[in-house]
Amino acid sequence: MTSISFEGRVAIVTGAGGGIGKAHALEIARRGGQVLVNDLGGDVAGRGGSASMAEQVVEEIRQAGGKAEANHDSVATTQGCNAIVAHALDAFGRVDVLINNAGIMRNSTLAETSDEDWDAVIATHLTGSFKLTRAVWPHMAEQGYGRIIYTASSAGVFGNPMVGGYGAAKAGIAGLMHVAALEGEAHGILCNGLMPNAVSRMAMQAAADWSGKLDGFETTMPETIGNSMQPEFNTPLAVYLASEQCTATRGLYSQCLGRMAHVFIGAVDGWQADRQAPPSVEEIAEHWQEISDTGNGFAIPLSATDEHAIVLSHR
Ligand code: NAD
Repeated sequence: MTSISFEGRVAIVTGAGGGIGKAHALEIARRGGQVLVNDLGGDVAGRGGSASMAEQVVEEIRQAGGKAEANHDSVATTQGCNAIVAHALDAFGRVDVLINNAGIMRNSTLAETSDEDWDAVIATHLTGSFKLTRAVWPHMAEQGYGRIIYTASSAGVFGNPMVGGYGAAKAGIAGLMHVAALEGEAHGILCNGLMPNAVSRMAMQAAADWSGKLDGFETTMPETIGNSMQPEFNTPLAVYLASEQCTATRGLYSQCLGRMAHVFIGAVDGWQADRQAPPSVEEIAEHWQEISDTGNGFAIPLSATDEHAIVLSHR
C-alpha cells in the first residue's frame, strides 16, 4: 500500500477548531500538508467568536512539526469567505484542497423556526460552501488541480425531525457538490461529499435538544458502537477524497459507525405515459405501484441530461 502524502499541498479546513474538522486538519498536517485552520470560535449556534479555537489547533500542529496558520473569519459572509482564501494564498501561495466543514445547529420544529435561525443555518452551511467554492475556483482552475469536500449530513439527505434549515442546507450541499463536480472536471477540480457521524459539540447539542421530544427517535447509543462515534473515524475518508490519489468525483459518501459507503440518488424505472398527451390523474392512481415501487429496476442518472437519455433508452 503506497502511503498518501500532502507534501507541497495546501488545504483550507473550515470549522477546524474542534470536532470533525480538527481531526481532518491534524491528519492533513501530519501527512505534510500546509493547513489553514479556520474557525469562527463561537458557540454551537454560531453566536460570538474568538481566535482561540483555531489558534489552539495550529499550536498542536506546530508542536508536532507541522505547518499551519490560524484564521477566524466567518464562512457565513462573502467577506469572510474571500478573506479565508486570501489568507491561505498569502500564507502558503496556493490552495489545493478545500474542506467545507464549518457548521452550526439551531434545532426546532418547522413551525417554531424563526427567520433568523433559518437564515443563519443556511448562510453557514450552504451559502458558505458556495462562496468558498467560488473564491477558490479561479486558483484551482489556473493550476489545473483541486479537491473540494462538501460536508453533507444524513439529517438532510435522509431527513430527521427538528432540523429544517440544517436538513435543507445539507441536502442543498449534496446538490451543490454535483454541480461543482460537473463544472470542475474540465479543470482537474474533483468534488465529493461526506456524510459524517460523530459525537461532537454539535451532536451533543442535538441530543440535548431532541431529548424527550422525538417519539421513536433514539438519542442514546448502544455499547456495541465501540469508539466509532469519535470524530477521527470520519477523517480517513475525507482525507482520501482530498488526496492526489483519489480520482473519484461527484460522489456522496457516508461514514456511519465505521461503515464507509457510497450514497446515491436514483430513479426507479417507473411507469411510462404516452408521450403525445399528458396522462390523467386516474392513470397516475392506477400506475402508482410502478411509479413508487423501489423494488424493481432503477438507474442513477449522471446529470439532468443523462436522465433524459436513460428514459429515452427505455422506450
Ligand atoms: P462542531 O460544532 O464540533 O464543529 C463545527 C465547527 O464549525 C465549530 O468548531 C464551529 O466553531 C465552526 N463554525 C461555526 N460557524 C462557523 C463560521 N461561520 N465560520 C467558521 N467556522 C464556524 O461539530 P462537528 O460535528 O464536528 O461538525 C462538523 C461538520 O460535520 C458540520 O458541517 C456538521 O454539520 C457536519 N456533520 C456532523 C455530524 C455529527 O454527527 N457530528 C453529522 C453530520 C454532519
